[in-house]
Amino acid sequence: MTGQDRWEEARRNMVELQIASRGVHDERVLSAMRSVPRHLFVPPSYRDAAYNDCPLPIGRGQTISQPYIVAVMTELLQLMPGDRVLEIGGGSGYQAAILGTLARKVISIERIPDVAEMAKENLSGAGITNVTIVIGDGTLGHPAKAPYDAILITAAAPDVPPPLIDQMAEGGRLVAPVGSRDLQELVRCTKKEGTVTREYFGGVVFVPLLGEYGWQV
Ligand code: SAH
Repeated sequence: MTGQDRWEEARRNMVELQIASRGVHDERVLSAMRSVPRHLFVPPSYRDAAYNDCPLPIGRGQTISQPYIVAVMTELLQLMPGDRVLEIGGGSGYQAAILGTLARKVISIERIPDVAEMAKENLSGAGITNVTIVIGDGTLGHPAKAPYDAILITAAAPDVPPPLIDQMAEGGRLVAPVGSRDLQELVRCTKKEGTVTREYFGGVVFVPLLGEYGWQV
């Protein structure tokens, strides 16, 4: 088996055993998870663990999320090919690459400059060209390109930052882990005719969202 086939097989197994078997059935999401080379988004020393059923360290105390959680959050966003997407917490750039595969344009905000640089390198290494990494406090959103059809927060928030609600388009969806620093619940907010409704999807654990409308640095 060639090196390339080995990674493709690892991705097929990841999707079948960790993701589809646990109830993610959106075929567009499964196909994105089969195509994005996750091993190019983890530090070289963790490459052989890239398709394991767990989060992995990416440096500076941050993590790339477990593949299953990436799939669940992506499915909850209900992306359409024409969507403009905002991600808060760029990290390795992997989740942004999945979003970019399913939507038109992704802006991903990362507060740690070194981590943002790594995300940029990982994305260009994987040939993803419709994701822009921005350095800054994502709890303020990115008003310059608002509104967004979908917003994803990939760090633990005490509550959904109000600027992000403001930057949702009509019909837009926002998915975030909301709760305490140690344990959060996945929430999806949907904006219809100006009114925002919330649905809850169970417990998760993320690294903290630090910033003006997050936890204090
Ligand atoms: N989505 C990432 C994983 C994110 S880990 C991936 O696919 O790899 C959470 C990231 O959120 C960390 O890199 C952390 O530095 C970042 N972060 C925390 N608070 C933030 C804020 N206020 N704005 C932007 N990024 C933030």
